[in-house]
Amino acid sequence: MSMPALPHATTLRLSLRTWLWGLSLLTTLPLLVFALSVVWEFKEFQQRTLVEHLERRSNELAFTVAERLESTLGTLNALAESDAALALDVPRLHAHAKRVVARDPGIRAISLVTQDRLLFLTAAPLGRTGLPVSAPDRLEAALRTQSPNVSGPFLSPVSHIQVVALTVPMVREGEALYALRGILEVESLNSLVSAERLPKGWIAGIVDATGTVVARSHDAARYVGHPASASFRQGILTSGKPTAFLGATLEGTPTMNLVRPVFGFDWYLGLAVPQSILNAQLTDMLWHMAGLGLLWVGLSLFAAMAFSHYLLRQMKTVVQAMDRAGEAPLQPQTPLRVSELAAIIGQFAATQRSEAAMRGDRDVAMLAREQVQDLYDHAPCGYHSLDAQGRVLRMNQTELQWLGLSLAQVQGRAYTDFLTPASLQVFQERFPQFVQDGQVKDLEMELHTASGAAMPILVSATAIQDAEGRFAASRSMVFDHTEKKKVQAQLEHMAHIDALTELSNRRDFYEKAAHEIARSMRSGLPFCVLMLDVDHFKQVNDQHGHAGGDDVLRRLARMLVAQLRAVDMPARLGGEEFAVLMPGTPLPEAAHAAERLRGALQATPIVLRDGQQIHITVSIGLTQWNADDSDIEATLKRADAALYRAKATGRNRVCTEH
Ligand code: GH3
Ligand code: MG
Ligand code: MG
Repeated sequence: MSMPALPHATTLRLSLRTWLWGLSLLTTLPLLVFALSVVWEFKEFQQRTLVEHLERRSNELAFTVAERLESTLGTLNALAESDAALALDVPRLHAHAKRVVARDPGIRAISLVTQDRLLFLTAAPLGRTGLPVSAPDRLEAALRTQSPNVSGPFLSPVSHIQVVALTVPMVREGEALYALRGILEVESLNSLVSAERLPKGWIAGIVDATGTVVARSHDAARYVGHPASASFRQGILTSGKPTAFLGATLEGTPTMNLVRPVFGFDWYLGLAVPQSILNAQLTDMLWHMAGLGLLWVGLSLFAAMAFSHYLLRQMKTVVQAMDRAGEAPLQPQTPLRVSELAAIIGQFAATQRSEAAMRGDRDVAMLAREQVQDLYDHAPCGYHSLDAQGRVLRMNQTELQWLGLSLAQVQGRAYTDFLTPASLQVFQERFPQFVQDGQVKDLEMELHTASGAAMPILVSATAIQDAEGRFAASRSMVFDHTEKKKVQAQLEHMAHIDALTELSNRRDFYEKAAHEIARSMRSGLPFCVLMLDVDHFKQVNDQHGHAGGDDVLRRLARMLVAQLRAVDMPARLGGEEFAVLMPGTPLPEAAHAAERLRGALQATPIVLRDGQQIHITVSIGLTQWNADDSDIEATLKRADAALYRAKATGRNRVCTEH
């Protein structure tokens, strides 16, 4: 792995720190958008709420004002329909009116007027009628339409304060010549829309049909009787369907306005909220947002710095580790760039992956090795390696168990130490040849086992050669040959034994005879051959069945063994014909033994399986081997001739032949 080149040249790529800073600043963008949307939502919500508030509040105020006017009109109507009024009893009506004014503090005075004359005014003594009729147009309208109305504000000629007049025509016989007027102080109307009854900063005003200010929550003294603001007058035009709109007060304050009619009268109520109130909350909110935003930017820049610092330190550690591992050294004082960081991380990950893969391969190899070792140790055969001197280099557990030794006890020792003396000889004969040929197959030897017994083994080996083709070690497989040997011995035995009588068979007889010949030739000692045949055996078979005949043959074999010497070797040559080798025996001695045998057989009854007893006799031909006999066949021929004679001369006798 090598480090990426780190160029000094100016480049458009950003350093890691700048990159992280940029990234952290970028994260403030969504925050900004979110904050702006919140502010916008808030503004909308605030405006909606304010409009609702304006509508509700203006409705309440208009209702209050209308109620005030209605109540005064009610009082005046009652007066207009009183007896005194109907009788046009002016002094009584004056007195009555004075009582009403005294009782109702809202009504400053009541006057009785005609089209052009003031008949009385409760604020002045009866008879003082020199006062002019105020708001004559409203009086004329009331008499003409025969319906009550409200005037705009005017200066009272009596008290010199701003008042309004509510005119109620007195209709008699379809004609209205008089009217009663209630004079209300503008101040009492001002109190209906006073600042105390409004949310802080709000401004309320009442304006008549001509657009003149009737009452006001602020600076009433200054503005009552004067034309209302342009915004108010504009509001009057749309007051049929009251809607909030932006405008300005008479003082020039920018406001949000709403104008609605005072129900049943041609007056209008206006409410205004200065935009500064509206904006104050928004401004507060913006400041909060800005504060939070700055905090966020500060924190993220700090985090970016800390993180970049940490990353650089980590990278430095990685790079130092790589340097130590003999990799390309990092150029000192070179700022680490984002793309390089990515490359380093990529290489680091690749290294980790390849290390993991190597670990995996090693694990697999170890496992395989363990499996092979296990197989080697616990194979069903022995396995060992010998050096060129026949010393043990390695040996598996199976063979060690046979020997009853540990690996440490056998390593370095000659393999012959573990063989029986006979095998030692075989090994010493064959091993040099094996070192030369590099191969040996099915070499039979015997191990000297832990129990002290000799264990037959079969060894096959090949040579491991070094680069120059010289013998380095043997690769030997050792098979347990015990069973095979047993079977072999059994087969061998069976090949020489007669199955019915368990005496030697013809083949064994011949082998032993050859052996005896050799011995006699060596030692010069004589030996005889005796041939024996059961007399009239066919009759035995005929009378007792073939199985009975077999019984007789088995019994006869046992009697032969019992009667003869241990050195004598009886054999069944076939049918009911037997031969006996009599080693170290000259003919007279043999003839004597034969006669004894014949007599014993004749005398001994044979008990058959069915319990019956029978007597048999045998005829015997006897001869001695002599050096002229080319083989045993010649000797047998003579013995057979003697036997023939025995048969021919009456059976149950011994004949000899020289
Ligand atoms: P001889 O006195 O002349 O010997 O008369 P023999 O009846 O014994 O005649 P021979 O020896 O010629 O006949 C042998 C008979 O023995 C023939 C055969 O049926 C019988 N035999 C041969 N082998 C066996 C055998 O293994 N078992 C039985 N039960 N009988 C056998
Ligand atoms: Mg016979
Ligand atoms: Mg016979």
